[in-house]
Amino acid sequence: MNDKLITFIKDKYSTQEFIPLHVPSFTAKEKEYVSSTIDSTFVSSVGKFVDLFEKKIEGYTKTPKAVATVNGTAALHTALYMAGVRHGDLVITQALTFVATCNALYHMGAKPIFVDISMDSLGLCPIALEEYLEENAYLDMDGVCKKKGTNESIKAVVPMHTFGHPVDLDKILRICSVWNLTLVEDAAESLGSFYKGIHTGTIGEFGALSFNGNKIITTGGGGMVLCGSESIGAHTKHVTTTAKIPHPYEFYHDEPGFNFRLPNINAALGCAQMESLDTFLIQKRNLANDYESFFKGSDYIFVKEPNYAKSNYWLNAVICPSVEARETMLQETNNANVMTRPVWKLMHRLPMFQNCYRGHLKNSEWIEAHLVNLPSTPIDKVYGS
Ligand SMILES: *Cc1c(COP(=O)(O)O)cnc(C)c1O
Repeated sequence: MNDKLITFIKDKYSTQEFIPLHVPSFTAKEKEYVSSTIDSTFVSSVGKFVDLFEKKIEGYTKTPKAVATVNGTAALHTALYMAGVRHGDLVITQALTFVATCNALYHMGAKPIFVDISMDSLGLCPIALEEYLEENAYLDMDGVCKKKGTNESIKAVVPMHTFGHPVDLDKILRICSVWNLTLVEDAAESLGSFYKGIHTGTIGEFGALSFNGNKIITTGGGGMVLCGSESIGAHTKHVTTTAKIPHPYEFYHDEPGFNFRLPNINAALGCAQMESLDTFLIQKRNLANDYESFFKGSDYIFVKEPNYAKSNYWLNAVICPSVEARETMLQETNNANVMTRPVWKLMHRLPMFQNCYRGHLKNSEWIEAHLVNLPSTPIDKVYGS
């Protein structure tokens, strides 16, 4: 399997050099837009590209208001803060995620509760969520969701659309409304992914996108909070920009704020990248189809989008038939200069999150032991030539 896989990937990328997991592609007006910010001196907190980038994301995702931030972690932090999460609160998320989801919680003094993933999406499982709540939570007299035994407040649910594959949001939304929980989507990996025709990150009250260098489009570093209404969006923007009341010269700030604003120079890169998003999505889908055909008929299972969704196929993944097969795939491909990676270590295995509450994590543990991520840079026909 592995020799054939290595040859297949090297042929795809038409190169014998090192093949990374994912690198950015700059094929549109990136240089032109970034240069224009330098020429104008507006590289920082003032300039037209931030508004323009927010408008482009609003148009593409059909969000009432999008607020650009310095990175995806800051977008999550802001979204959780706006959702009312405060010191001492609990927030339900999945153990199979990138650490940023939990770091955002940790730094607000909140704590994650880990619930299992579904095998369909590799994201938060609605059945596991419901079971966890029924066993471990109750609604108090004011309708606030509390943890049995300790009476800590459970405020929000944060599903993450793993590798771009949308979680089953309808079911999760229904559970959130029964339990009075705010739905905040970690859509960092899923720009261009749609759940039943609706863009991920826009079904919950808030969504967070990331434009880190390894994501489907990049601003160098950057993120975006997708807000469910214009008024909440305006407030979110206010909070991420030091909560300053506009005035020609006076300084007055009316609440605690963050300095999470995205610099104009990064937003310029984002505006140019948005012009290529549709192309990247087609190239990613083609690559995913090719991987799928490659693994067809073997005992390796290529991870496909759930049947209710359209995925951006941000990061391709395959499930190996055994733990040993996963180990040899990782070793042999990496030795052959083809970068592959296991999935993140489950969050409850990390020292800072090992004492967090959790439900059973059967699927998460199984996936952790069997999954390998494959090179996923969109392939331009001229790549490598
Ligand atoms: C990339 C990512 C983030 C945020 O990333 P930043 O590097 O801060 O932009 C958050 N959650 C998940 C699941 C991610 O993959």
